Amino acid sequence: MSPSSAYVIAGAGLAGAKAAETLREEGFDGPVVLIGDEAERPSERPPLSKDYLLGKAEREAIYVHPASWYADNGVELRLGVPVTGIDPAAHEVRLADGSRIGYAKLLLATGSSPRRLRVPGADADGVLYLRRVADSDQIKAAFQAASRVAVIGAGWIGLETAAAARAAGVEVTILETAELPLLRVLGTEAAQVFASLHREHGVDLRFGVQVSEITGSAGRAGGVRMADGSHVEADAVVVGVGITPNSQLAEAAGLETGNGVVVDARLRSSDPDIYAAGDVARAYHPALGRHIRVEHWANALNQPQAAARAMLGQDVAYDRVPYFYTDQYDLGMEYAGYVEPGGYDQVVFRGDVERREFVAFWLSGGRVLAGMNVNIWDVSDTIQALVRSGRTADPDRLADPSVLLDELAGD
Ligand SMILES: Cc1cc2nc3c(=O)[nH]c(=O)nc-3n(C[C@H](O)[C@H](O)[C@H](O)COP(=O)(O)OP(=O)(O)OC[C@H]3O[C@@H](n4cnc5c(N)ncnc54)[C@H](O)[C@@H]3O)c2cc1C
Repeated sequence: MSPSSAYVIAGAGLAGAKAAETLREEGFDGPVVLIGDEAERPSERPPLSKDYLLGKAEREAIYVHPASWYADNGVELRLGVPVTGIDPAAHEVRLADGSRIGYAKLLLATGSSPRRLRVPGADADGVLYLRRVADSDQIKAAFQAASRVAVIGAGWIGLETAAAARAAGVEVTILETAELPLLRVLGTEAAQVFASLHREHGVDLRFGVQVSEITGSAGRAGGVRMADGSHVEADAVVVGVGITPNSQLAEAAGLETGNGVVVDARLRSSDPDIYAAGDVARAYHPALGRHIRVEHWANALNQPQAAARAMLGQDVAYDRVPYFYTDQYDLGMEYAGYVEPGGYDQVVFRGDVERREFVAFWLSGGRVLAGMNVNIWDVSDTIQALVRSGRTADPDRLADPSVLLDELAGD
C-alpha cells in the first residue's frame, strides 16, 4: 500500500475549519479530509451564549464557512462520524463507521467538552450544558418556559447565560464555589466589576457555596441544594463549571498529553506527523517560556493557521498574545495577555471603574502581563503590543488617561 498523501483533520470546529482553509490558501493541492462527530458543519461557539441565545442572530450566522465552501475548495467533509482511534505507525485514523483513513499529516482539533456535574440528581431533565448549537436551542427554549433559573458556576459561560436569562425576563440565581466570579482569571480587584454588574441586573449571586444535589421530581430538576442545607428553586439549571480538553485520542495513541495534547511552538506533538490546535492543544508559547492551553475563540481562529503552515513544512512559531472577549448586558470587554492565578502583584485601573469604562492592567515586578478594556474600544492592539514588549511601565502613567497607551507601548 502506498503511503497516503492526505492531510487529515480530526474535529470539525472553528480550529479544524481554519486549518483546512489555510492548507488551501497556502497552495496545498493534495487531499484534505475534515472529520467531525457533530452533524453540523463547523461553527463558531461565542454566539451560542450571546446573540444566538438572545434570539438576535440567525443560525446561518454561526457557521465558519458557507455550506458550499467545502466542495468548492476540495475539502472532504465527513460529518456525524467520530474518529475513534489513531494508529501512528500505520499513519491511519479509525472512524466509528469502521472505515480507516490514511494520513501524511494529522491535525487534532477536537476541542473540549463541558465538565459534568457529579452530584445526585445531576442527570435529571432540565440540567443543561452549553457547548453546541442544540444546547443553545434547548437553553433558549428553557428560558421561554421558565420563571426561575439556577446557574452553577460564575465563569464566562455561566455569566453570559445568566445575562441572556435576565434578558428573557427570567429570575436568576448564580451559585459559585469561589468568593467572586471569574476569580481565577481576573483576581479580586477586577472580578468585583462582574459581581456588581450582575447584581445591578437583578441576579442573586451566592458565593462560597457547594452544590450537593439537584432536587426535583419525576426525573425533572426543580432546584439545587447546597452543602449548607440551603435550597434554590429553579425550573432549569444551567451548569458552567469548566471544560476538559478532548485529548483521549492522543492519549490512547501514546502521544504526550496532560491538560491537552502537548505540542511545541510549531504545534507539533510528540509524534512528528501529528499536530494539535485550538482548545485541545497545550502549546509551548515562546514569549511566555512555558506550555499553555487557551480555551478561547481567537486561539481557535489563529493557532490552526500556524499549525497548517507548519504541517506544510514552513518555519512557524505560534506566539500570539492570548486574547478573549465577552459581552454581558451593556458590557463589552476584551482581555489580552496571560496571568496565572495569583501571578501578579499589582492591578492598575485607567478610567472610570464605577461607570464600567476603563482599562485594567495586571503587573508583576512592573511588567504588564495583561490588559482588559471594558467598554473602551480600539485599544486591544496597543495593549497586546504593550504585553508583547515585556517592558516595565510606570503605574502612575498607566493609570493616567492623558498619557497615550501608544506611548507606553513604545510606538
Ligand atoms: C457557548 C460558548 C461561548 C463562547 N464564547 C466565547 C467568547 O465570547 N470569547 C472567546 O474568546 N471564546 C469563547 N468561547 C470559546 C471558543 O468558542 C472556543 O475556544 C472554540 O470554539 C474552540 O474551538 P475548537 O475548534 O478548538 O473546538 P470546538 O469548537 O470544541 O470544536 C471541536 C470539534 O471537534 C469535535 N470532536 C471532538 N472529538 C472528536 C472526535 N473524536 N472525532 C471527530 N470530531 C470530534 C467536537 O465535537 C467539535 O465539533 C465560547 C465557547 C462556548 C461553548
